[in-house]
Amino acid sequence: MSKIPVAVLGATGAVGQRLVSLLGSHPWFELAGLCASERSVGKPYLEAARWLLPEEPPAFARSGRVLPCEPDSRWPLVFSALDADAASSIEETFARSGALVVSNARSHRMRADVPLVVPEVNPDHLELAKGQRYGGGAILTNPNCSTIGLVLALAPLARAFGLETVRVTTLQAASGAGYPGVSSLDLIDNVIPFIAGEEEKLESEPLKILGELRAGRVENAPFGISATATWVPVIDGHSLVVSVRLGAEVPRDALLDAWRSWRGEVADLALPSSPRRPLAYREERDRPQPRQDRMAEGGMATTIGRLRPCPLDGWKFIALSHNTIRGAAGGTLLLAELAAAKGLLGEKMKL
Ligand code: NAP
Repeated sequence: MSKIPVAVLGATGAVGQRLVSLLGSHPWFELAGLCASERSVGKPYLEAARWLLPEEPPAFARSGRVLPCEPDSRWPLVFSALDADAASSIEETFARSGALVVSNARSHRMRADVPLVVPEVNPDHLELAKGQRYGGGAILTNPNCSTIGLVLALAPLARAFGLETVRVTTLQAASGAGYPGVSSLDLIDNVIPFIAGEEEKLESEPLKILGELRAGRVENAPFGISATATWVPVIDGHSLVVSVRLGAEVPRDALLDAWRSWRGEVADLALPSSPRRPLAYREERDRPQPRQDRMAEGGMATTIGRLRPCPLDGWKFIALSHNTIRGAAGGTLLLAELAAAKGLLGEKMKL
């Protein structure tokens, strides 16, 4: 079984480093290219990237140099962790060259022909990629880092009971802004009640992901979302304070059952990055917490807690997920594994 050579675009950034780290020991994919901006091209990777993770970088990264973000036929699959302004055209250039691009950037997420996928929730949306006209290549996208945790918590409720309204306030970790991210003098001893573009993403992306694929198009889910996004002085792990009005009166145990029994739609594919349980519910009155819960299932599970009645909406709870693992690098790895398992890498796939 030979591994598929892959490149990381934006390999020097916060998400790129997570991808580099996770790819260092991946059973299907082999890290074969580290690409970033002109600022970094030609430099040894570890000189261009300020390595932020506690684990050692993999051998390829320790010896590699940064390449320009230009297609190479040796890479049938590329992961994009590019800044959104750069991602838009670079990702299309790679797709036109025949590569499958799996992206963390927002640039193409809301296009009608681009799948925006959380593998456990809407794997059928991969179909949308058939409408792309890149001559063999394609772009697949991962949602915004807060959207992923929200959608994982909402999906079992939407499927079992229907959703009418969702209100969410995020407490987002500093690594969500990349490196060096939010200035320490802005964030220490503080909460910043504005994240550019974040509320718009939280109010639109879940409706596409939880929407239905009909005749080759996604019909958005028919509920409303109101979002407020804030930065808090946490390094990793976005917390979400959520209130939901469901489509029916539902007792507490039924919600807990819906979360606890939910395995998602790809459990039988045994994808290497799949968490055994995508959702964990904690009964302690003060959980989930970023420090305690962000690494649940290697950072791939969303932890929910504090389910209690909401006097206005029905139910309220807290959800937490790791923004650079489940919310970015790990999420795109799982999506690429799903695409590979579904044959989207076509002839190039030699698993
Ligand atoms: P980051 O730390 O700022 O890294 C950005 C990367 O893009 C760097 O590798 C940078 O290379 C590269 N880059 C910037 N301009 C470029 C250009 N013109 N051409 C080629 N490469 C260029 O950002 P990040 O937090 O890792 O985020 C990466 C992407 O993932 C963004 O689109 C972000 O919105 C999205 N995302 C982030 C998170 C998160 O939690 N951080 C979660 C989900 C999604 P140089 O080092 O050479 O400048």
